[in-house]
Amino acid sequence: MLLKVAILGGDGIGPEVTGEAVRVLKTVAESFGHQLSLTHKDVGGAALRSANDPLPKDTLETCQSSGAVLLGAVGSPDFDHVPGNLRPEKGLLRLRQALGVFANLRPAFCFAPLEDASPLRAEVVRGTDILFVRELLGGIYFGEPRSTQGSAGARVATDTMRYGEPEIKRVAHVAFQLARTRRRKVTSVDKANVLDCSRLWREVVSRTAQHYPDVQLNHSYVDSAATALVSHPTNFDVVLTENMFGDILSDQAGGVVGSLGMLPSASVGGPVALYEPVHGSAPDIAGKGIANPLGAILSIGMMLRHSFQLDREAACVEAAVTDTLVAGHRTRDLAKPDQPSIGTTQMGQKVAEAVKARARAADPMTVAR
Ligand code: NAD
Repeated sequence: MLLKVAILGGDGIGPEVTGEAVRVLKTVAESFGHQLSLTHKDVGGAALRSANDPLPKDTLETCQSSGAVLLGAVGSPDFDHVPGNLRPEKGLLRLRQALGVFANLRPAFCFAPLEDASPLRAEVVRGTDILFVRELLGGIYFGEPRSTQGSAGARVATDTMRYGEPEIKRVAHVAFQLARTRRRKVTSVDKANVLDCSRLWREVVSRTAQHYPDVQLNHSYVDSAATALVSHPTNFDVVLTENMFGDILSDQAGGVVGSLGMLPSASVGGPVALYEPVHGSAPDIAGKGIANPLGAILSIGMMLRHSFQLDREAACVEAAVTDTLVAGHRTRDLAKPDQPSIGTTQMGQKVAEAVKARARAADPMTVAR
């Protein structure tokens, strides 16, 4: 099979982690007999520097004509003071919008060897396996009007949270359908005691649930969900949220399962899906070679499964990550203070070796998580 993938490293640790994800993708292609066509393009701050646009036309066209897109991260302190439409993050928002990827799937899984990397007690985090389904193209990140007006000292800033019924319905269907492939439980998160948007959200989600009588639905206020996520993370199966709540809660889940660097994501709903680790560009560790590439590598697993229907290859990547962790390899974010750690490149190499070993084995599908 020909796998045509656009690679947008972006900013900070983005190119470092996507470099390792590409290494693993190349190893999968060699091991399973696939051909790769990779095209590297700029996005975010990197594109602002090269083309004065956080999403150049050329980058978008390459993404639209690819089978899938892998993105690292965008964001750089160099652009903290530029106008909103010239910020690196705007490039990512425009890309998601142009690709029509309205559902952001963010699995947060506690790998058994990482139980002790969580700040929570092992017995609390053990068995955590959550799939966040976050609405990605609506809500306060996209609503109009938005502005900052007035004179210095008396300025007023406005953002608009806005949701329409069709936007809620389509992402709710995604959540219920995915719940059917898992433990058949959806927790819909909102703030219906305060926000009109959330009241509409709750009503539409409840109505959509009637198509899925075999899936259990419960509603949770976002503040209560934030508490439950750290006190009883194993109670959650699929968590359905609007854009901003999902952004925040899924990062929190990164802390729960040991590190934000572990979380992959897939943004789906349009003809071309977008895969990216959940974390940002981490300027504090960029260029040091210590970033955890496993979120980006696991995003390759999601890409193989969702965009190319290569379940066996996807399972091989997931198993290889588990094998690497079981063997005791840790990047700095995962290591305990007295534990040795390895760098970004070494971690990528270890996973690539494990992919080769798994592919040679009789049953690379067996995932010993
Ligand atoms: P961040 O996710 O970049 O970093 C938060 C913390 O987690 C930092 O301490 C960082 O060192 C650590 N961390 C993140 N990824 C890691 C990894 N792979 N390995 C080890 N440690 C890791 O969030 P932030 O610091 O709030 O934001 C930095 C920039 O990234 C900002 O410009 C922000 O807008 C941008 N951002 C981009 C995305 C994206 O591209 N999807 C997402 C979030 C934030």
